[in-house]
Amino acid sequence: MSFIHINNLTKRFEGNLAPAVDQISFSINKGEIVSLLGPSGCGKTTALRMIAGFENPSGGTIQVDQRYIVSESDVTPAEKRGIGMVFQEHALFPHMTVAKNIMFGLKNMRRSQKIKRVNEMLELVELEDYADMIPSRLSGGQQQRVAIARALAPKPHVILLDEPFSNIDASLREKMRFDISSILKKANATAIIVTHDQKDAFAVADKIVVMKDGTIQQVSTPKELYRCPSNCFVAQFVGKTNLLQGVVSKDGQSINTSVGTFDQLEGILQPALSKVMLSIRPENIAVSETGRYSGCVDRIVYGGDSQEIHLTAEGHSSLAPTPLLINAPISFDIEVNEQVRFDISSKDITVIE
Ligand code: ATP
Repeated sequence: MSFIHINNLTKRFEGNLAPAVDQISFSINKGEIVSLLGPSGCGKTTALRMIAGFENPSGGTIQVDQRYIVSESDVTPAEKRGIGMVFQEHALFPHMTVAKNIMFGLKNMRRSQKIKRVNEMLELVELEDYADMIPSRLSGGQQQRVAIARALAPKPHVILLDEPFSNIDASLREKMRFDISSILKKANATAIIVTHDQKDAFAVADKIVVMKDGTIQQVSTPKELYRCPSNCFVAQFVGKTNLLQGVVSKDGQSINTSVGTFDQLEGILQPALSKVMLSIRPENIAVSETGRYSGCVDRIVYGGDSQEIHLTAEGHSSLAPTPLLINAPISFDIEVNEQVRFDISSKDITVIE
């Protein structure tokens, strides 16, 4: 059975027409890292604040470890939920040492036990040598590790992290993603991380909940999300993609698009002649002199280890020409206005709607 159950959680702010969070439901297993991912204003922070207990839901329930912290009739106060929170700005006490910051949340323990736990946490976040420093002497990344250690110290059921990478320099971000995920995994923590950045979510999460306009669009592992987006929004929000309109053939076996006809596609569930949308990732289009499809190159964007080729595909005459993006190896020699031939394997095409 899942460790955390969120069921139809809803938040309506007074004066707003649409709910900020609209009947979202998902589950989290023990020790799982889940990311709430979506664009600004999609409701992810509001959802996190309702789980933390800083915002009262307008409806729905939250269960943690088989106990309701939000039921239809009752709401457990934030401090009694056993939930740790890491805020975007870290919110460390500036006048307290690192050790005292970590000790702050430890209640009902003997002093010797508290010191032991603080030392465990310092070791976990690899800040043993910084115990007596005040936070302002630490780097942003180190301060964040202190904030995580402080949140984990009382052994919460779940730890919530609000945009943990937003104040970190781009050059340090990759290391921080690795640090955070390895700290959470070492502590066997169950965690929810809010982010608007797909790369953050991919790097740290076991499971991603994609949100838009207060609703859940898809809940999947990072790999599934990228490979099989459930709708156009997810396909475009999670990485780059080519979206092609298509029409199912009369015999229902293939799909005609402006680029060409694709057959042997998995998941053609729609009836003959219905309109569908296909998603094809740029790296799944292979340039090849003998390719089945062709187009004229409009623009090339050099990317160091690969190149993006923007082209207009020529194919099915009854449909409008389509811009396509191909991610090609840097060794592939091509110029703007030249013809390029390419292949797309049916297994790399996702029929989304
Ligand atoms: P961001 O990444 O920009 O923080 P978000 O996805 O976390 O965005 P929320 O902050 O949860 O989104 O906001 C969701 C919606 O709820 C927005 O339309 C926002 O304006 C609205 N909202 C959030 N807090 C309040 C509030 N206290 N009162 C009224 N409306 C609010």
